[in-house]
This record gives sequence, C-alpha cells and structure tokens, in this order.
Amino acid sequence: DQLKLKDSNLLRDAAFINGNWLVKDQRFEVSNPSTQQVLARVSNVTEIDTHDAIAAAQAAFPAWAAKTAKERAAVMRVWFDLMIQHADDLAAIMTAEQGKPLAEAKGEVIYGASFLEWFAEEAKRVSGDVMASTWTDKRIIVLKQPIGVCAAITPWNFPIAMITRKVAPALAAGCTIVIKPAEQTPLSALAMVELAQRAGIPAGVINVLTADAERSIAVGKVLCDSPVVRHLSFTGSTPVGRILMRQSSPTVKKLALELGGHAPFIVFDDADLDAAVEGALQSKFRNAGQTCVCTNRFYVHASVYDQFVEKLATGAKKILVGDGFVTGVQQGPMIDAQAISKVTEHVADAQTKGARLVTGGKQHTAGSLFYEPTVLSDVTPAMLIMNEETFGPVAAVVKFTSEEEVIAAANDTEFGLASYFYSRDIGRVWRVAEKLEYGMVGINTGLMSNEVAPFGGVKQSGLGREGSKYGMDEYLEMKYLCLGGM
Ligand code: ADP
Repeated sequence: DQLKLKDSNLLRDAAFINGNWLVKDQRFEVSNPSTQQVLARVSNVTEIDTHDAIAAAQAAFPAWAAKTAKERAAVMRVWFDLMIQHADDLAAIMTAEQGKPLAEAKGEVIYGASFLEWFAEEAKRVSGDVMASTWTDKRIIVLKQPIGVCAAITPWNFPIAMITRKVAPALAAGCTIVIKPAEQTPLSALAMVELAQRAGIPAGVINVLTADAERSIAVGKVLCDSPVVRHLSFTGSTPVGRILMRQSSPTVKKLALELGGHAPFIVFDDADLDAAVEGALQSKFRNAGQTCVCTNRFYVHASVYDQFVEKLATGAKKILVGDGFVTGVQQGPMIDAQAISKVTEHVADAQTKGARLVTGGKQHTAGSLFYEPTVLSDVTPAMLIMNEETFGPVAAVVKFTSEEEVIAAANDTEFGLASYFYSRDIGRVWRVAEKLEYGMVGINTGLMSNEVAPFGGVKQSGLGREGSKYGMDEYLEMKYLCLGGM
C-alpha cells in the first residue's frame, strides 16, 4: 500500500504458467532500493514448475504458430495499447522496485511498448524466398518458420524493455516463451503479463517464472537443459552469459546474448564541446550509470581536456539525487549493496593509483544505496575502472593526443557493445566509425537505443541483435524446399 496504483490488479505476486497464476508457499521479498521497504513477497518457483512452464509453452505453440501473422499482430497491438493506457502504473511499479526516477521509468514503459508495436507490424513482413534455380526441372524455395519454444532470462536495469525486446519478436514470429525476470524486479514483469492476458494472448504463449537468486540458477539450468527450448535469449553479465552458453551446448540451442559492455566515449579537438558534455552526462548518469551501454571510459583530446573535465563536473554536480518518486530527481539509488561496493572499489582503486577526484566520490546522504555523481580525471589503463564494467555513476576521464592512439585504446577490451565519439570532421567521422570494434557507435550523441535500430554487441559483448527488422531473424528458422518432379 506504499504503492498507489490506479489499477491495483497490476500488482501481482504469483508466477504465471499456462494462463494461471501460480501461488507458492515459498516466497522471496522484493524491496524498494530507495527505502528498503518490502513491496511484495513473490512466489519462488521450483524446477518442477519450470518443466510445467516449458510444457505449457510447448502445448500452446502449434495453435499460436498456426495463426496468421495478422491475427498475432492484432493481439499484440491490443497489448501495446494496454501498456500505453497503464503507463503511469507500470512506471510506478518500476520506480518502486528498481529505483529509477519516475520520468525515466515512464520513458522505459513507452520504449518497452514500442517493441510490441514494432514487431506486431514486422510480423506481417516475414517473407520467404524463391531463388533462380540452376536446374530446369527443380525449384528452390525458402520458407521462414518460428523456431519453437523460447526462453528469456532478463536483468533488473530495464525491467520492462528487456522483456518486450525478446517477447515481442518471439510472439510475432509465432513462438511461445518462458520468461525468467530478474529477482530484483519481477513485479514489472508480472504487471506486463497481467496486461498480456487482458489483451487476449492465449494461455501458455507467455509464461513467467519468478525466482530468487538461488532458484534462478536452478530455473536457468532446466531451461538450458531442455531439448524443447530451442532458443535462449539472455541479457545480463558476460560471466553468466558464458555459463548459459556452456549449459546450452548439449542441446545446441540458438542463443541471443546481450552481455556486458565497457563503452568508450571519445571527444576529439574539433568536437562541439558543450554538446559532448551534454551527451556525456546522458550516456554516463542515466539510470545511475546502470546500463550496459553507459560510458565507462572518457577519452578527451589534450587541447580540450581541462575544459571538458570542468564542464562535466559542473554538470555532474547539478544532478539531483534522491528517491525516484520525488519530482525533479534525476538519479535514484543503485540496485543493491553489491552495486555500491563495486563503485566504491573502483573509485578507491583509481585514487590509490593516482587518479584525481574532481567531484563526488562517496555515498550520497539520500540513503544507504545512493552514490554521488562522480568524476575522476588523470585515469590510467592500469586502473580497475578502465577494465571492469563499473555499472555506476562514475565518469573516468583520460587524456589523449592522437587519433590512432585513441582508437587503439578504445578497442583494447574484450567488450564490444556501445561506443561514442564527438567530432565535426566528416572524414574523421567515417574513419573512426569504421575502426571502432563495437556493435553500436553513437556519433555526436550519447543516446541511441530505438526499436527500429539493431541493438547488440561484438566480441564478448554478445551474439545476435535485438530490435529492428533483424531482431525477428533470431526467432525464425529457414527451411529450404527443393521442388522436383516438375
Ligand atoms: P546483473 O549483473 O544484471 O545482475 P546477471 O547476469 O547476474 O546480471 O543476472 C541477469 C539475469 O540472469 C537475472 O535474471 C539473474 O537471475 C539471472 N542469472 C544469474 N545467474 C544465473 C545462472 N547461473 N543461471 C541462470 N540465470 C542466472
């Protein structure tokens, strides 16, 4: 009752299997990271429940796949409309369990919904092929068919968008799905599935398994081991991605992995400096720095370095930190104590190794999980922050002098998700964009996620792309028909 919703039925605490809410005696607590208040005690599912969910998805698959794309699109469109209609409640649930400022949560609801709209439209544009045959008496035809039962394991940093980005293309393609949301943020997922049910998505097409951290591992194992599950989509850390990949090898599952990043953000001497600072603040401090595309390393040309650091620090000091429900707040809490210790460790390590603390650098007075927007300068490659994903509101700034040097430094990582750079020189824009070993390059912008664009990484940041016309391919198999005897 701390959470005032217009439609209180959106707040659910049971798992959802085969169109039924599954209430368990065993529960786990979901709490507000800003206040530590317990929001709900959610059903903690078992391995047996996981098998049930897979069986439900398997049973629902033939009928869902047999619908026309237009029929599937129509139901998805209703779900989209319900999300928009209930955007305020969905945002409130998200802010309560995740901590992000309400306006940012609302933005995510709209962004998350956009995948339903987009893939409902794309469903109608799945087309096969007829190739020019090299035989006079045979024809070569390619069909595209849904891959089958899918599984999705999603993180807490975008409790809704990371679900719709997987569920929407799966459903559009004709697949059914079992979702395991993050243990910190199951309430957003359950509110979404309540709306899916109201929209008329048939029983078994979407199933949600809620589990605490320990049970999540067991649930994940069952999903990976199952020969029925043909596709696993995961968004989360690179170490867990490696585990899931290994566990999926016996059943040779198709995998979509959206893993960690360590985004570089390069400011060249010809950049529009104020625009670069604005982009830097957005890219670094959004969601308290807890996104896989958040900048981790700023490389700034020596001629504009001091100016950039000063402007960035001025911007960071202006960020209003506090409870996400308070009007005007721009940065909420970190997700948990572990997140705070990681940030603390990165800052301490950098300072020990000679970095200069320009602003911030300690926990914020707003509460135990809040951290001050922080800027560190004189950062060197040996520091932890330059090698590990920080996932927090700390900007590490490094000085560079040449284009070749900075490209080499930017690429010197196992990660390859997002990268950013600012330059007004058209030749340099092309050169640098081509040389950055990243799945995504933001040029003169700090924000680039959109349902129309392919999101994903190279190297150890993952496999596959989400969103865009390419996002559907993940959930489709090609079938070659060779038609002879003509
Ligand atoms: P984060 O750093 O965002 O918490 P994780 O990779 O730890 O990222 O978690 C992302 C998702 O993966 C969550 O839903 C979590 O429950 C799940 N998860 C974590 N470890 C495992 C595992 N060994 N097997 C299956 N799922 C896991």
